[in-house]
Amino acid sequence: MSHLHKALLIFVSLVVAAIVALHMLAAETGAAVSSLRIDTGSLEARSSAPPAMPSEGIPPKRLSHYQDLSVRWMAEYLRINTTNPPGNELKAAEWFKRIFDAEGIENRLLEYAPGRADIWARVPAARVVNGKRTAGAVKRPIVLLNHMDVVSSDPAYWRAPPFSATILDSAMYGRGAQDMKSEALAQLLVMVMLKREQPARDRDVIFLATADEEVHDSGTDWLIAQHPELLGHAEFLVTEGGENLLDGASEKYVGVDVAEKAPFWLHVVAHGEGGHGSRPIDDSAPNRLVRALDRIMKYQPEPRVQPELQQLLAEMAAFEPPSRAAHLRNIGQALQDKAFRASLAEDESLNYLLHNTIAVTMLQGSRQTNVIPEEAWANLDVRLLPGEDPKEFLQTLQAVADDPSVSIEPLDGFAKGNSSPISTALFDSIRRVSAHYFPQAPVLPRLAGGYNESQRYRPLGIVCYGFSPFMTTAEEANTEHGNNERIRLDELRRGFRVLYDVVLNVR
Ligand SMILES: [Zn+2]
Repeated sequence: MSHLHKALLIFVSLVVAAIVALHMLAAETGAAVSSLRIDTGSLEARSSAPPAMPSEGIPPKRLSHYQDLSVRWMAEYLRINTTNPPGNELKAAEWFKRIFDAEGIENRLLEYAPGRADIWARVPAARVVNGKRTAGAVKRPIVLLNHMDVVSSDPAYWRAPPFSATILDSAMYGRGAQDMKSEALAQLLVMVMLKREQPARDRDVIFLATADEEVHDSGTDWLIAQHPELLGHAEFLVTEGGENLLDGASEKYVGVDVAEKAPFWLHVVAHGEGGHGSRPIDDSAPNRLVRALDRIMKYQPEPRVQPELQQLLAEMAAFEPPSRAAHLRNIGQALQDKAFRASLAEDESLNYLLHNTIAVTMLQGSRQTNVIPEEAWANLDVRLLPGEDPKEFLQTLQAVADDPSVSIEPLDGFAKGNSSPISTALFDSIRRVSAHYFPQAPVLPRLAGGYNESQRYRPLGIVCYGFSPFMTTAEEANTEHGNNERIRLDELRRGFRVLYDVVLNVR
């Protein structure tokens, strides 16, 4: 996920009714706590019951071996420098390939340009029918997607070199420790465990590591264009995004990205007569540009509340103070209220959810103070709500600019933002598994402010979520694209297990 997008990832959350109910129940009755205590006497009897989570069926010795592998492989993987540019993801792909080959896992290394590669692997479904192991999937696959490239780093600002995987204070340091080599590692472990443990499952599980996500996303574009069949008509995909916040000892929430706003970056150019700065020209390019931008800045896009967003806000209300909660439960009506609408402008966390947004980010006129240029330009960072039509928005903006000498062009085409539904077997699985590992934390679907690769895979009919199996403190999360990127060893030793249970809980 790019730095800009991460920075813009302000989010909204909502809560699963069941978990809220559970919390309310626990808050209401001290009895729930004491009954838990009484229950401990019957642990013996319960141990013969089916395990609450699939990974609990793995003998402790083997589990602890996987934990060791997780730490060892993470160190190896972090030491492969995949700074993009230039990427050099081929080295990382070859590293994955060695492991897949050694484990007997079907895989394909796809070098699509010199030094640039994607790697794909699959563990097929294995069902148990009438007590017998039967091959063949009965449901569509799950894809575990990660990118191998990382952003640049300056060792001068790090406690340990960025490609050293040094362990300091029980955390492993390395560029990619958060974004997203740790998640890739958890995905790798899941593949290895599925192959070795052979749990019954009715879906193929596909691993896909891509190149170039941080710059042009050419790895994903190439794969979707050349080898869409490798996705096996998948039903679900899990990738980066989401955030599980740890505050001190308390697990605040498990955040799952189900939608993103679509970046729609625009280049605005004004033309006019050039001349000497000592003889001002009223309709010069810079003057026209500034006036057009002023009209654009004054333009307030209408709030839009699509049904999915309405559902999201209504559920989010459970965590809000009463007056705000009432507005969120009936956002359509709230928007009729002038005072509420006016308050939105000040409310950054809600405002961006209800509107397409526009920010002026780059400007240029002349390169010399005493020269009036023939051309002046600005770039706008526009973010569209899921489902918005970029072409329509561009037309509106041209009308707002209201000047035939000012042109507005998209910098990167017309991609439409999209989202995935919340009521799916994958979301249910994340809820169940989170309730097991992070019982205090509500599971919150989020609308992210920026792009991630889910946007590319959803048009193929795949439900895509940004979900992380790790808990991070706010400080650790901020090391993504920053200095001293790291992950605590405790998380490395647990995360792959969380993801394994999520994959096997998808019914
Ligand atoms: Zn990333």
